[in-house]
Amino acid sequence: MTARLSHVSPREESLPVVSEPSGASNFIHDLVVADHAAGKHDGRVVTRFPPEPNGYLHIGHAKSICLNFGLAHDISGGICHLRFDDTNPTTEDPEYVNAIQADLKWLGFDWQEKMFFASDYFEQLYSFAVKLIHKGKAYVDNLTPEEMRVYRGTLSQPGKNSPSRDHSIEDNLGLFQRMRAGEFPDGSYVLRAKIDMASPNINLRDPVLYRIRHARHYRTGNSWCLYPAYDYAHPLSDALEGVTHSICTLEFEDHRPLYDWVVEQAEAPHRPQQIEFARLNLTYTVMSKRKLLELVEKKLVSGWDDPRLPTIKGLRRRGYTPEAIRAFCDHIGIGKREAIVEMQLLEHFVREDLNKRSPRVMAVLRPLKVILDNYPEDQAEELEAVNNPEDSSAGTRNVPFSRVLYIEQDDFREDPPKQFFRLAPGREVRLRYAYIIKCVGVTKDPITGEVTELHCIYDSTTKSGASQEQRKVKATIHWVSLAHAVNAEVRLYHPLLIADLAKVPSEHDWTTYLNPNSLERVTGCKVEPSLRQAVEGTRYQFERLGYFCTDPDSASGTLTFNRTVSLKDAWAKIDPPRPVK
Ligand code: ATP
Ligand code: MG
Repeated sequence: MTARLSHVSPREESLPVVSEPSGASNFIHDLVVADHAAGKHDGRVVTRFPPEPNGYLHIGHAKSICLNFGLAHDISGGICHLRFDDTNPTTEDPEYVNAIQADLKWLGFDWQEKMFFASDYFEQLYSFAVKLIHKGKAYVDNLTPEEMRVYRGTLSQPGKNSPSRDHSIEDNLGLFQRMRAGEFPDGSYVLRAKIDMASPNINLRDPVLYRIRHARHYRTGNSWCLYPAYDYAHPLSDALEGVTHSICTLEFEDHRPLYDWVVEQAEAPHRPQQIEFARLNLTYTVMSKRKLLELVEKKLVSGWDDPRLPTIKGLRRRGYTPEAIRAFCDHIGIGKREAIVEMQLLEHFVREDLNKRSPRVMAVLRPLKVILDNYPEDQAEELEAVNNPEDSSAGTRNVPFSRVLYIEQDDFREDPPKQFFRLAPGREVRLRYAYIIKCVGVTKDPITGEVTELHCIYDSTTKSGASQEQRKVKATIHWVSLAHAVNAEVRLYHPLLIADLAKVPSEHDWTTYLNPNSLERVTGCKVEPSLRQAVEGTRYQFERLGYFCTDPDSASGTLTFNRTVSLKDAWAKIDPPRPVK
Protein backbone atom coordinates (compact mmCIF):
# COMPACT_ATOMS: atom_id res chain seq x y z
CA MET A 1 0.00 0.00 0.00
CA THR A 2 1.26 3.46 -0.78
CA ALA A 3 1.16 6.23 1.76
CA ARG A 4 -0.95 8.40 -0.45
CA LEU A 5 -3.16 7.22 -3.24
CA SER A 6 -4.01 10.25 -5.29
CA HIS A 7 -4.33 13.92 -4.80
CA VAL A 8 -7.29 15.91 -6.03
CA SER A 9 -6.45 19.58 -6.34
CA PRO A 10 -9.22 21.46 -4.56
CA ARG A 11 -8.41 25.08 -5.21
CA GLU A 12 -9.33 25.26 -8.85
CA GLU A 13 -12.61 27.08 -8.50
CA SER A 14 -14.55 29.26 -6.13
CA LEU A 15 -16.12 27.24 -3.39
CA PRO A 16 -18.88 27.50 -0.82
CA VAL A 17 -18.16 29.39 2.38
CA VAL A 18 -14.96 28.46 4.17
CA SER A 19 -14.75 30.18 7.49
CA GLU A 20 -11.18 29.16 8.13
CA PRO A 21 -8.25 30.55 6.17
CA SER A 22 -7.35 28.02 3.50
CA GLY A 23 -3.89 27.66 5.00
CA ALA A 24 -2.34 27.69 1.55
CA SER A 25 1.06 28.16 3.12
CA ASN A 26 0.29 25.70 5.94
CA PHE A 27 2.53 27.08 8.64
CA ILE A 28 3.21 23.65 10.12
CA HIS A 29 4.38 22.26 6.81
CA ASP A 30 6.67 25.27 6.34
CA LEU A 31 8.04 24.95 9.84
CA VAL A 32 8.78 21.25 9.52
CA VAL A 33 10.40 21.75 6.11
CA ALA A 34 12.58 24.51 7.58
CA ASP A 35 13.57 22.33 10.56
CA HIS A 36 14.41 19.52 8.19
CA ALA A 37 16.52 21.79 5.97
CA ALA A 38 18.32 23.18 9.01
CA GLY A 39 19.17 19.68 10.21
CA LYS A 40 17.20 20.09 13.43
CA HIS A 41 16.34 16.80 15.23
CA ASP A 42 19.36 15.25 13.42
CA GLY A 43 17.58 15.82 10.14
CA ARG A 44 14.79 13.40 11.07
CA VAL A 45 11.08 14.10 10.60
CA VAL A 46 8.85 11.87 12.71
CA THR A 47 5.21 12.77 13.27
CA ARG A 48 2.53 10.66 14.87
CA PHE A 49 -1.20 10.26 14.88
CA PRO A 50 -2.16 9.43 18.47
CA PRO A 51 -5.80 8.34 18.81
CA GLU A 52 -7.17 7.13 22.09
CA PRO A 53 -8.98 3.87 21.33
CA ASN A 54 -12.18 5.02 23.02
CA GLY A 55 -14.26 5.64 19.90
CA TYR A 56 -14.26 5.59 16.13
CA LEU A 57 -12.43 8.08 13.95
CA HIS A 58 -14.32 11.05 12.58
CA ILE A 59 -13.75 13.72 9.96
CA GLY A 60 -11.89 15.86 12.55
CA HIS A 61 -9.40 13.07 13.01
CA ALA A 62 -9.07 12.93 9.23
CA LYS A 63 -7.76 16.49 9.32
CA SER A 64 -5.06 15.48 11.78
CA ILE A 65 -4.32 12.28 9.84
CA CYS A 66 -3.92 14.13 6.54
CA LEU A 67 -1.62 16.61 8.23
CA ASN A 68 0.59 14.12 10.06
CA PHE A 69 0.78 11.46 7.37
CA GLY A 70 0.92 14.16 4.70
CA LEU A 71 4.04 15.70 6.27
CA ALA A 72 5.74 12.33 6.52
CA HIS A 73 4.87 11.67 2.90
CA ASP A 74 5.97 15.06 1.58
CA ILE A 75 9.31 15.22 3.34
CA SER A 76 11.98 12.83 2.21
CA GLY A 77 12.68 10.22 4.87
CA GLY A 78 9.67 11.41 6.91
CA ILE A 79 7.69 8.89 8.86
CA CYS A 80 4.38 9.00 10.70
CA HIS A 81 3.70 6.66 13.61
CA LEU A 82 0.32 5.37 14.56
CA ARG A 83 0.26 5.40 18.32
CA PHE A 84 -2.67 4.36 20.43
CA ASP A 85 -2.76 6.64 23.44
CA ASP A 86 -4.28 3.94 25.58
CA THR A 87 -3.65 5.05 29.14
CA ASN A 88 -7.24 5.09 30.36
CA PRO A 89 -8.37 1.55 31.18
CA THR A 90 -12.05 2.26 31.69
CA THR A 91 -12.98 3.58 28.23
CA GLU A 92 -10.68 1.77 25.84
CA ASP A 93 -11.44 -1.31 23.81
CA PRO A 94 -9.76 -3.47 21.15
CA GLU A 95 -12.83 -2.95 18.96
CA TYR A 96 -11.71 0.66 18.57
CA VAL A 97 -8.08 -0.31 17.96
CA ASN A 98 -9.15 -2.45 15.02
CA ALA A 99 -11.65 0.06 13.67
CA ILE A 100 -9.10 2.89 13.75
CA GLN A 101 -6.60 0.85 11.74
CA ALA A 102 -9.25 -0.11 9.20
CA ASP A 103 -10.38 3.50 8.81
CA LEU A 104 -6.82 4.76 8.38
CA LYS A 105 -6.19 2.20 5.66
CA TRP A 106 -9.44 3.09 3.96
CA LEU A 107 -8.46 6.75 4.01
CA GLY A 108 -5.34 5.73 2.12
CA PHE A 109 -2.66 6.08 4.77
CA ASP A 110 -0.06 3.63 5.95
CA TRP A 111 2.00 3.65 9.12
CA GLN A 112 4.60 1.34 7.54
CA GLU A 113 4.67 -1.00 10.52
CA LYS A 114 5.26 1.88 12.93
CA MET A 115 2.35 1.08 15.20
CA PHE A 116 2.79 1.68 18.91
CA PHE A 117 0.80 1.58 22.12
CA ALA A 118 1.38 3.97 25.02
CA SER A 119 0.47 1.04 27.30
CA ASP A 120 3.67 -0.67 26.13
CA TYR A 121 5.56 2.16 27.85
CA PHE A 122 3.94 1.77 31.28
CA GLU A 123 7.10 0.32 32.82
CA GLN A 124 9.32 3.04 31.32
CA LEU A 125 6.86 5.75 32.34
CA TYR A 126 6.95 4.40 35.88
CA SER A 127 10.77 4.52 35.88
CA PHE A 128 10.69 8.12 34.70
CA ALA A 129 8.34 8.92 37.58
CA VAL A 130 10.73 7.31 40.06
CA LYS A 131 13.48 9.43 38.55
CA LEU A 132 11.39 12.58 39.02
CA ILE A 133 10.80 11.67 42.67
CA HIS A 134 14.53 11.07 43.14
CA LYS A 135 15.23 14.50 41.68
CA GLY A 136 12.70 16.09 44.03
CA LYS A 137 10.49 16.92 41.05
CA ALA A 138 7.47 14.84 42.00
CA TYR A 139 5.67 13.94 45.21
CA VAL A 140 2.83 11.79 46.44
CA ASP A 141 -0.19 13.68 47.69
CA ASN A 142 -3.33 12.64 49.53
CA LEU A 143 -5.48 15.75 49.16
CA THR A 144 -9.04 14.99 48.19
CA PRO A 145 -10.09 16.19 44.74
CA GLU A 146 -12.08 18.98 46.40
CA GLU A 147 -9.07 20.09 48.49
CA MET A 148 -6.89 19.88 45.43
CA ARG A 149 -9.25 22.21 43.59
CA VAL A 150 -9.17 24.75 46.43
CA TYR A 151 -5.38 24.56 46.75
CA ARG A 152 -4.97 25.06 43.02
CA GLY A 153 -6.21 28.68 43.18
CA THR A 154 -7.80 30.45 40.26
CA LEU A 155 -6.76 32.39 37.20
CA SER A 156 -6.52 35.53 39.33
CA GLN A 157 -5.22 33.92 42.51
CA PRO A 158 -2.10 31.83 43.01
CA GLY A 159 -2.44 28.34 44.44
CA LYS A 160 -1.17 27.08 47.80
CA ASN A 161 1.35 24.37 48.47
CA SER A 162 -0.09 21.09 49.63
CA PRO A 163 1.11 19.93 53.06
CA SER A 164 2.59 16.86 51.32
CA ARG A 165 4.74 18.94 49.00
CA ASP A 166 7.74 18.91 51.30
CA HIS A 167 7.71 15.26 52.30
CA SER A 168 11.05 13.53 51.94
CA ILE A 169 12.14 11.81 48.76
CA GLU A 170 12.28 8.50 50.67
CA ASP A 171 8.69 8.88 51.90
CA ASN A 172 7.54 9.67 48.38
CA LEU A 173 9.39 6.72 46.88
CA GLY A 174 7.93 4.41 49.51
CA LEU A 175 4.39 5.65 48.96
CA PHE A 176 4.69 5.53 45.18
CA GLN A 177 5.88 1.93 45.39
CA ARG A 178 2.96 1.05 47.65
CA MET A 179 0.60 2.78 45.20
CA ARG A 180 1.88 0.47 42.49
CA ALA A 181 1.64 -2.55 44.77
CA GLY A 182 -2.09 -1.92 45.10
CA GLU A 183 -2.10 -1.08 48.79
CA PHE A 184 -4.37 1.94 48.43
CA PRO A 185 -7.87 2.43 47.11
CA ASP A 186 -8.78 4.55 44.09
CA GLY A 187 -8.52 8.28 44.73
CA SER A 188 -6.54 8.00 47.97
CA TYR A 189 -3.17 9.15 46.58
CA VAL A 190 -1.81 10.75 43.45
CA LEU A 191 1.66 11.50 42.18
CA ARG A 192 2.10 15.18 41.38
CA ALA A 193 4.78 17.12 39.56
CA LYS A 194 6.52 19.66 41.77
CA ILE A 195 6.58 22.76 39.61
CA ASP A 196 5.06 26.01 40.84
CA MET A 197 1.77 26.51 42.70
CA ALA A 198 1.93 30.23 41.91
CA SER A 199 2.46 29.87 38.17
CA PRO A 200 0.15 32.05 36.08
CA ASN A 201 -0.33 28.93 33.95
CA ILE A 202 -2.60 26.70 36.01
CA ASN A 203 -1.33 23.64 34.15
CA LEU A 204 1.98 24.14 35.93
CA ARG A 205 0.48 24.20 39.43
CA ASP A 206 1.77 20.78 40.41
CA PRO A 207 -0.32 18.75 37.94
CA VAL A 208 -1.25 15.16 38.66
CA LEU A 209 1.01 12.62 36.93
CA TYR A 210 -0.42 9.34 38.21
CA ARG A 211 -3.76 8.21 39.61
CA ILE A 212 -4.71 5.00 41.36
CA ARG A 213 -7.31 3.09 39.41
CA HIS A 214 -8.05 -0.53 40.13
CA ALA A 215 -9.29 -1.31 36.66
CA ARG A 216 -8.46 -3.91 34.06
CA HIS A 217 -6.73 -2.56 30.98
CA TYR A 218 -7.55 -4.19 27.63
CA ARG A 219 -3.84 -4.81 26.92
CA THR A 220 -2.04 -4.91 30.24
CA GLY A 221 -4.81 -6.70 32.12
CA ASN A 222 -4.48 -6.33 35.87
CA SER A 223 -0.73 -5.62 35.90
CA TRP A 224 -1.28 -2.02 36.86
CA CYS A 225 -3.51 -0.22 39.31
CA LEU A 226 -2.03 3.20 38.70
CA TYR A 227 -2.28 4.93 35.38
CA PRO A 228 -0.42 7.96 34.01
CA ALA A 229 -2.18 11.23 33.18
CA TYR A 230 -2.33 12.33 29.55
CA ASP A 231 -0.03 15.32 30.15
CA TYR A 232 2.61 12.98 31.49
CA ALA A 233 2.23 9.94 29.23
CA HIS A 234 1.86 11.81 25.97
CA PRO A 235 5.12 13.81 25.88
CA LEU A 236 7.12 10.84 27.15
CA SER A 237 5.58 8.48 24.60
CA ASP A 238 6.54 10.98 21.88
CA ALA A 239 10.03 11.23 23.30
CA LEU A 240 10.49 7.46 23.58
CA GLU A 241 9.51 7.06 19.93
CA GLY A 242 11.79 9.82 18.73
CA VAL A 243 8.90 11.91 17.47
CA THR A 244 10.27 15.23 16.22
CA HIS A 245 7.07 17.22 15.68
CA SER A 246 4.18 16.48 18.00
CA ILE A 247 1.20 18.14 16.40
CA CYS A 248 -1.94 18.66 18.46
CA THR A 249 -4.99 20.85 18.62
CA LEU A 250 -5.09 24.37 20.05
CA GLU A 251 -6.52 23.51 23.45
CA PHE A 252 -3.11 22.04 24.30
CA GLU A 253 -1.27 25.30 23.71
CA ASP A 254 -1.33 26.10 27.43
CA HIS A 255 -0.08 22.60 28.16
CA ARG A 256 3.05 23.08 26.07
CA PRO A 257 5.21 24.33 29.00
CA LEU A 258 4.19 21.21 30.90
CA TYR A 259 4.97 19.03 27.87
CA ASP A 260 8.46 20.56 27.73
CA TRP A 261 8.91 20.32 31.50
CA VAL A 262 8.07 16.61 31.56
CA VAL A 263 10.42 15.76 28.69
CA GLU A 264 13.24 17.83 30.16
CA GLN A 265 12.93 16.72 33.77
CA ALA A 266 12.55 13.06 32.87
CA GLU A 267 15.71 13.40 30.78
CA ALA A 268 13.98 11.57 27.99
CA PRO A 269 16.03 10.40 24.99
CA HIS A 270 14.50 12.90 22.54
CA ARG A 271 13.05 16.40 22.72
CA PRO A 272 9.95 16.51 20.53
CA GLN A 273 8.49 19.85 19.65
CA GLN A 274 4.78 20.44 20.25
CA ILE A 275 2.94 22.46 17.59
CA GLU A 276 -0.74 23.36 17.79
CA PHE A 277 -3.37 23.92 15.10
CA ALA A 278 -7.10 24.65 15.09
CA ARG A 279 -9.32 21.60 15.22
CA LEU A 280 -11.99 21.03 12.62
CA ASN A 281 -15.54 21.85 13.60
CA LEU A 282 -18.44 21.30 11.22
CA THR A 283 -21.89 22.86 11.27
CA TYR A 284 -24.94 20.87 12.40
CA THR A 285 -23.10 17.84 13.65
CA VAL A 286 -21.13 16.56 16.63
CA MET A 287 -17.52 15.55 16.74
CA SER A 288 -16.90 14.92 20.39
CA LYS A 289 -16.31 11.23 20.93
CA ARG A 290 -18.26 11.44 24.16
CA LYS A 291 -21.32 12.70 22.31
CA LEU A 292 -20.89 10.24 19.46
CA LEU A 293 -20.70 7.43 22.00
CA GLU A 294 -23.84 8.71 23.71
CA LEU A 295 -25.71 8.59 20.39
CA VAL A 296 -24.53 5.05 19.77
CA GLU A 297 -25.15 3.78 23.31
CA LYS A 298 -28.61 5.33 23.60
CA LYS A 299 -29.40 3.92 20.15
CA LEU A 300 -30.25 7.36 18.85
CA VAL A 301 -28.37 6.27 15.72
CA SER A 302 -27.93 2.78 14.29
CA GLY A 303 -24.24 2.49 15.24
CA TRP A 304 -20.85 4.12 14.70
CA ASP A 305 -21.38 3.68 10.98
CA ASP A 306 -24.75 5.40 10.88
CA PRO A 307 -24.59 7.46 7.66
CA ARG A 308 -25.75 10.56 9.55
CA LEU A 309 -22.60 10.61 11.66
CA PRO A 310 -19.39 12.41 10.68
CA THR A 311 -17.43 9.27 11.59
CA ILE A 312 -15.23 7.80 8.87
CA LYS A 313 -17.33 4.63 9.02
CA GLY A 314 -20.53 6.68 8.73
CA LEU A 315 -19.26 8.75 5.82
CA ARG A 316 -18.04 5.60 4.11
CA ARG A 317 -21.39 3.85 4.48
CA ARG A 318 -23.07 6.95 3.21
CA GLY A 319 -20.97 6.78 0.03
CA TYR A 320 -18.13 9.23 0.66
CA THR A 321 -14.83 8.39 -0.99
CA PRO A 322 -11.44 8.68 0.70
CA GLU A 323 -10.39 10.98 -2.14
CA ALA A 324 -13.21 13.40 -1.34
CA ILE A 325 -12.35 13.45 2.36
CA ARG A 326 -8.67 14.05 1.65
CA ALA A 327 -9.43 16.79 -0.86
CA PHE A 328 -11.67 18.46 1.71
CA CYS A 329 -8.95 18.27 4.37
CA ASP A 330 -6.39 19.71 1.97
CA HIS A 331 -8.71 22.52 1.06
CA ILE A 332 -9.61 23.65 4.57
CA GLY A 333 -5.92 23.81 5.36
CA ILE A 334 -4.23 24.26 8.68
CA GLY A 335 -4.70 27.38 10.74
CA LYS A 336 -4.40 28.75 14.23
CA ARG A 337 -7.91 30.14 14.48
CA GLU A 338 -10.88 28.12 15.76
CA ALA A 339 -13.67 28.16 13.20
CA ILE A 340 -16.68 26.21 12.07
CA VAL A 341 -16.61 24.88 8.55
CA GLU A 342 -19.89 24.61 6.66
CA MET A 343 -21.10 21.07 6.05
CA GLN A 344 -21.85 22.16 2.47
CA LEU A 345 -18.14 22.42 1.85
CA LEU A 346 -17.63 18.75 2.69
CA GLU A 347 -20.61 17.93 0.46
CA HIS A 348 -19.09 19.96 -2.34
CA PHE A 349 -15.99 17.78 -2.35
CA VAL A 350 -17.86 14.50 -2.40
CA ARG A 351 -20.12 15.76 -5.18
CA GLU A 352 -17.10 16.78 -7.27
CA ASP A 353 -15.46 13.43 -6.77
CA LEU A 354 -18.56 11.34 -7.39
CA ASN A 355 -19.38 13.31 -10.49
CA LYS A 356 -16.16 12.00 -12.02
CA ARG A 357 -16.48 8.41 -11.00
CA SER A 358 -20.13 7.42 -10.64
CA PRO A 359 -22.08 5.53 -13.26
CA ARG A 360 -25.42 7.14 -14.05
CA VAL A 361 -28.58 5.12 -13.62
CA MET A 362 -32.29 5.86 -13.44
CA ALA A 363 -34.30 5.46 -10.28
CA VAL A 364 -37.69 6.79 -9.29
CA LEU A 365 -38.06 7.54 -5.60
CA ARG A 366 -41.76 8.40 -5.46
CA PRO A 367 -43.34 6.63 -8.42
CA LEU A 368 -46.27 7.79 -10.50
CA LYS A 369 -47.53 5.35 -13.12
CA VAL A 370 -47.56 6.49 -16.74
CA ILE A 371 -49.37 4.49 -19.42
CA LEU A 372 -48.35 5.16 -23.02
CA ASP A 373 -51.69 4.60 -24.70
CA ASN A 374 -50.21 4.32 -28.21
CA TYR A 375 -47.31 2.00 -27.33
CA PRO A 376 -47.99 -1.66 -28.17
CA GLU A 377 -48.82 -3.71 -25.10
CA ASP A 378 -46.61 -6.65 -25.92
CA GLN A 379 -43.63 -4.56 -26.96
CA ALA A 380 -40.44 -3.72 -25.09
CA GLU A 381 -37.22 -2.25 -26.41
CA GLU A 382 -33.73 -1.72 -25.14
CA LEU A 383 -32.57 1.86 -25.27
CA GLU A 384 -28.96 2.89 -25.13
CA ALA A 385 -28.02 4.97 -22.10
CA VAL A 386 -24.72 6.69 -21.37
CA ASN A 387 -23.02 5.40 -18.22
CA ASN A 388 -21.00 8.47 -17.43
CA PRO A 389 -20.85 11.59 -19.59
CA GLU A 390 -17.74 12.65 -17.61
CA ASP A 391 -15.92 9.46 -18.53
CA SER A 392 -16.24 8.14 -22.08
CA SER A 393 -14.48 4.90 -21.11
CA ALA A 394 -17.51 4.04 -18.96
CA GLY A 395 -19.46 3.18 -22.13
CA THR A 396 -23.18 2.63 -22.47
CA ARG A 397 -25.78 0.18 -21.25
CA ASN A 398 -29.26 -0.82 -22.33
CA VAL A 399 -32.31 0.25 -20.42
CA PRO A 400 -35.62 -1.51 -21.09
CA PHE A 401 -38.55 0.61 -22.20
CA SER A 402 -42.18 -0.49 -22.42
CA ARG A 403 -45.77 0.71 -22.36
CA VAL A 404 -46.09 1.31 -18.62
CA LEU A 405 -43.50 3.40 -16.87
CA TYR A 406 -42.85 5.11 -13.58
CA ILE A 407 -41.89 8.75 -13.31
CA GLU A 408 -41.41 10.89 -10.20
CA GLN A 409 -44.58 12.29 -8.70
CA ASP A 410 -42.76 15.60 -8.55
CA ASP A 411 -42.31 15.64 -12.31
CA PHE A 412 -46.03 16.06 -12.84
CA ARG A 413 -48.35 18.89 -11.82
CA GLU A 414 -51.99 18.89 -12.69
CA ASP A 415 -52.02 22.61 -12.30
CA PRO A 416 -48.45 23.68 -13.02
CA PRO A 417 -47.11 26.86 -11.49
CA LYS A 418 -45.49 29.39 -13.76
CA GLN A 419 -41.92 28.15 -13.69
CA PHE A 420 -42.85 24.47 -13.88
CA PHE A 421 -41.80 23.03 -17.26
CA ARG A 422 -42.19 19.33 -16.64
CA LEU A 423 -45.22 17.15 -17.32
CA ALA A 424 -48.76 18.55 -17.02
CA PRO A 425 -52.01 17.89 -18.84
CA GLY A 426 -51.50 18.67 -22.53
CA ARG A 427 -47.74 19.21 -22.05
CA GLU A 428 -44.78 17.42 -23.56
CA VAL A 429 -41.52 16.30 -21.98
CA ARG A 430 -38.68 14.13 -23.14
CA LEU A 431 -38.04 10.84 -21.37
CA ARG A 432 -34.31 10.54 -20.85
CA TYR A 433 -32.73 8.29 -23.54
CA ALA A 434 -36.21 7.64 -24.97
CA TYR A 435 -39.06 9.55 -26.58
CA ILE A 436 -41.06 12.69 -26.21
CA ILE A 437 -44.37 11.99 -24.51
CA LYS A 438 -47.48 14.10 -24.10
CA CYS A 439 -49.90 13.88 -21.20
CA VAL A 440 -53.42 13.25 -22.46
CA GLY A 441 -55.26 12.06 -19.39
CA VAL A 442 -55.17 11.85 -15.61
CA THR A 443 -56.73 9.13 -13.45
CA LYS A 444 -57.58 10.01 -9.87
CA ASP A 445 -58.57 8.14 -6.78
CA PRO A 446 -62.33 8.71 -6.51
CA ILE A 447 -62.13 9.19 -2.75
CA THR A 448 -58.91 11.10 -2.12
CA GLY A 449 -58.73 12.89 -5.44
CA GLU A 450 -55.06 11.94 -5.65
CA VAL A 451 -53.58 11.41 -9.11
CA THR A 452 -52.97 7.66 -9.44
CA GLU A 453 -51.86 7.35 -13.06
CA LEU A 454 -51.25 9.36 -16.17
CA HIS A 455 -52.17 8.55 -19.73
CA CYS A 456 -49.70 9.74 -22.30
CA ILE A 457 -48.91 9.23 -25.93
CA TYR A 458 -45.41 8.86 -27.23
CA ASP A 459 -44.01 10.12 -30.51
CA SER A 460 -42.09 7.29 -32.14
CA THR A 461 -40.15 9.72 -34.36
CA THR A 462 -38.45 11.39 -31.42
CA LYS A 463 -36.31 8.53 -30.23
CA SER A 464 -33.30 9.85 -28.41
CA GLY A 465 -30.23 10.00 -30.62
CA ALA A 466 -32.29 9.87 -33.84
CA SER A 467 -30.60 11.83 -36.58
CA GLN A 468 -33.46 14.08 -37.63
CA GLU A 469 -33.90 17.55 -36.15
CA GLN A 470 -35.51 17.00 -32.77
CA ARG A 471 -38.50 18.83 -31.49
CA LYS A 472 -37.62 21.13 -28.62
CA VAL A 473 -39.17 20.41 -25.23
CA LYS A 474 -38.50 22.26 -22.06
CA ALA A 475 -37.66 19.35 -19.78
CA THR A 476 -36.19 15.89 -19.77
CA ILE A 477 -37.27 13.58 -16.99
CA HIS A 478 -36.12 10.16 -15.83
CA TRP A 479 -38.25 7.03 -15.72
CA VAL A 480 -38.19 3.30 -15.09
CA SER A 481 -40.16 0.66 -16.99
CA LEU A 482 -42.75 -0.86 -14.65
CA ALA A 483 -42.38 -4.40 -15.95
CA HIS A 484 -38.61 -4.28 -15.47
CA ALA A 485 -38.33 -2.16 -12.34
CA VAL A 486 -36.64 -3.42 -9.20
CA ASN A 487 -38.05 -2.41 -5.83
CA ALA A 488 -35.77 -0.50 -3.51
CA GLU A 489 -35.64 1.47 -0.32
CA VAL A 490 -33.84 4.79 -0.40
CA ARG A 491 -32.56 6.56 2.71
CA LEU A 492 -32.27 10.30 2.58
CA TYR A 493 -30.21 12.04 5.22
CA HIS A 494 -30.72 15.45 6.68
CA PRO A 495 -28.57 17.29 9.24
CA LEU A 496 -28.07 15.48 12.50
CA LEU A 497 -28.76 18.61 14.54
CA ILE A 498 -31.23 21.44 14.25
CA ALA A 499 -28.73 23.95 15.66
CA ASP A 500 -25.01 24.34 16.07
CA LEU A 501 -24.20 23.32 19.62
CA ALA A 502 -21.62 26.12 19.85
CA LYS A 503 -24.50 28.58 19.55
CA VAL A 504 -27.02 27.11 22.00
CA PRO A 505 -27.11 27.44 25.80
CA SER A 506 -24.71 24.87 27.18
CA GLU A 507 -26.95 24.01 30.13
CA HIS A 508 -29.50 22.36 27.83
CA ASP A 509 -29.28 18.64 27.21
CA TRP A 510 -27.65 18.67 23.79
CA THR A 511 -29.70 15.72 22.57
CA THR A 512 -32.77 17.98 22.50
CA TYR A 513 -31.15 19.57 19.45
CA LEU A 514 -31.12 16.32 17.50
CA ASN A 515 -33.07 16.61 14.28
CA PRO A 516 -36.00 14.18 14.57
CA ASN A 517 -36.16 14.02 10.77
CA SER A 518 -32.49 13.35 10.09
CA LEU A 519 -33.32 10.00 8.51
CA GLU A 520 -36.01 9.81 5.85
CA ARG A 521 -36.73 6.29 4.63
CA VAL A 522 -38.44 6.21 1.28
CA THR A 523 -39.87 2.79 0.47
CA GLY A 524 -41.47 1.55 -2.73
CA CYS A 525 -38.81 3.15 -4.93
CA LYS A 526 -38.30 1.75 -8.42
CA VAL A 527 -34.85 1.38 -9.91
CA GLU A 528 -33.67 0.24 -13.33
CA PRO A 529 -32.88 -3.47 -13.65
CA SER A 530 -29.12 -2.99 -13.99
CA LEU A 531 -29.13 -2.27 -10.26
CA ARG A 532 -30.56 -5.67 -9.37
CA GLN A 533 -27.06 -7.00 -8.72
CA ALA A 534 -25.77 -3.83 -7.03
CA VAL A 535 -22.99 -4.77 -4.65
CA GLU A 536 -22.69 -3.21 -1.20
CA GLY A 537 -20.81 0.06 -1.27
CA THR A 538 -21.25 0.67 -5.00
CA ARG A 539 -21.84 4.31 -5.83
CA TYR A 540 -24.13 5.67 -8.50
CA GLN A 541 -25.57 8.87 -9.69
CA PHE A 542 -29.34 8.49 -9.83
CA GLU A 543 -30.02 10.84 -12.71
CA ARG A 544 -31.40 14.18 -11.59
CA LEU A 545 -31.57 13.05 -7.95
CA GLY A 546 -28.07 12.84 -6.57
CA TYR A 547 -25.37 10.39 -5.61
CA PHE A 548 -26.36 7.14 -3.95
CA CYS A 549 -24.56 4.17 -2.54
CA THR A 550 -25.72 0.61 -1.91
CA ASP A 551 -26.22 0.02 1.80
CA PRO A 552 -25.19 -3.23 3.54
CA ASP A 553 -28.82 -3.62 4.64
CA SER A 554 -29.53 -4.70 1.05
CA ALA A 555 -28.38 -8.14 2.19
CA SER A 556 -31.67 -8.53 4.04
CA GLY A 557 -33.55 -8.74 0.74
CA THR A 558 -34.62 -5.23 -0.22
CA LEU A 559 -32.13 -3.32 -2.30
CA THR A 560 -31.28 -0.31 -0.14
CA PHE A 561 -29.50 2.88 -1.13
CA ASN A 562 -28.15 5.79 0.88
CA ARG A 563 -28.21 9.22 -0.61
CA THR A 564 -24.65 10.47 -0.22
CA VAL A 565 -25.45 13.96 -1.42
CA SER A 566 -27.99 15.56 -3.69
CA LEU A 567 -27.10 17.07 -7.04
CA LYS A 568 -26.33 20.71 -6.68
CA ASP A 569 -29.68 22.22 -7.46
CA ALA A 570 -31.85 19.15 -7.33
CA TRP A 571 -35.44 20.05 -6.57
CA ALA A 572 -34.43 23.51 -5.52
CA LYS A 573 -35.20 24.96 -8.88
CA ILE A 574 -37.02 23.80 -11.92
CA ASP A 575 -34.91 21.55 -14.12
CA PRO A 576 -33.64 23.11 -17.31
CA PRO A 577 -33.82 20.94 -20.42
CA ARG A 578 -30.88 18.61 -20.75
CA PRO A 579 -29.01 17.89 -23.95
CA VAL A 580 -29.66 14.30 -24.90
CA LYS A 581 -26.61 12.45 -26.10
P1 ATP B 1 -10.97 12.95 23.32
O1 ATP B 1 -9.64 13.54 23.67
O2 ATP B 1 -12.17 13.71 23.73
O3 ATP B 1 -11.09 11.49 23.55
P2 ATP B 1 -10.16 13.49 20.65
O4 ATP B 1 -11.11 13.83 19.56
O5 ATP B 1 -9.10 14.44 21.04
O6 ATP B 1 -11.10 13.09 21.79
P3 ATP B 1 -8.09 11.55 20.21
O7 ATP B 1 -8.24 10.11 19.99
O8 ATP B 1 -7.30 12.01 21.36
O9 ATP B 1 -9.53 12.11 20.30
O10 ATP B 1 -7.58 12.25 18.88
C1 ATP B 1 -6.49 11.79 18.16
C2 ATP B 1 -5.86 12.93 17.41
O11 ATP B 1 -6.80 13.53 16.55
C3 ATP B 1 -5.37 14.01 18.35
O12 ATP B 1 -4.05 14.35 17.98
C4 ATP B 1 -6.30 15.16 18.12
O13 ATP B 1 -5.62 16.36 18.22
C5 ATP B 1 -6.81 14.93 16.70
N1 ATP B 1 -8.16 15.44 16.57
C6 ATP B 1 -9.24 15.04 17.25
N2 ATP B 1 -10.32 15.77 16.91
C7 ATP B 1 -9.91 16.65 15.97
C8 ATP B 1 -10.56 17.68 15.21
N3 ATP B 1 -11.86 17.94 15.36
N4 ATP B 1 -9.82 18.38 14.34
C9 ATP B 1 -8.52 18.10 14.17
N5 ATP B 1 -7.85 17.16 14.84
C10 ATP B 1 -8.53 16.43 15.74
MG1 MG C 1 -7.57 13.73 22.73
